Amino acid sequence: MTLAPPPVEGVLFDIDDTLVDTQAAFAAAIDAVARVHLPDLPPDRYGEALALWRADPNGHYRAYTRGELGYDTQRMRRANELQDAFGGATLDDDGYAAWLSVFWGAFEASWTAHDDAAQVLADLAVAGVRVGSLSNAATELQTRKLKSAGLGHVPLLVGVDTLGVGKPDPRVFLEACRRLGTPPERTAYVGDELDVDALGARGAGLVGVWLDRPGARRGGPHPEDPLAARASGVPVIGSLAELPGVLGLSATA
Ligand SMILES: [Mg+2]
Repeated sequence: MTLAPPPVEGVLFDIDDTLVDTQAAFAAAIDAVARVHLPDLPPDRYGEALALWRADPNGHYRAYTRGELGYDTQRMRRANELQDAFGGATLDDDGYAAWLSVFWGAFEASWTAHDDAAQVLADLAVAGVRVGSLSNAATELQTRKLKSAGLGHVPLLVGVDTLGVGKPDPRVFLEACRRLGTPPERTAYVGDELDVDALGARGAGLVGVWLDRPGARRGGPHPEDPLAARASGVPVIGSLAELPGVLGLSATA
């Protein structure tokens, strides 16, 4: 007789593009900076600029999460990547400051939760599962973002500044479990990036779940293969509504 594994006691969530629709917020921010700083780019190509931003083909953001680049340095490099790719002038320090003002105003005004976030959080609460979040961005930023998106009740347990490195370093997953108060093997982690999130969590001994929302893949160097995920034993879900089911939690709400 084989006993089913015990259900998880805790769920940790990624924030960007998992709980919060950050892709939409970046779209608004990229549209805003393109109108000002890429005057020769027709609006029907703004989507290409967004795609380049999200793909981050030279890995500047990931260098930040490894503690190798400062936050502003990585973002200025990515801003100039857009300028170079789409015919804009290279931004010096003053130009970048002006760019950032436009970018940040539109970005911060556009933080909203995904439609499925509030319900899954309610379902997990009814099931008695502890919930927290773990992010590769800074704690203060992510705390404000959750609050603006109406998810201020989700504690941000670990940001990239907590230990000075981010996912997929196993230490950040283990620290988030410690703060949540649940053992890693009884804790699920769900995020939208297969390698950084689901495989990283699995490598740290958690139950990694990959959230593969339709139309949300980044492309570029990011591993995004559902077959490879399943071959690694990582459950793949298309919506947070599927999360309680793949974790074996009964529908309770
Ligand atoms: Mg994410």
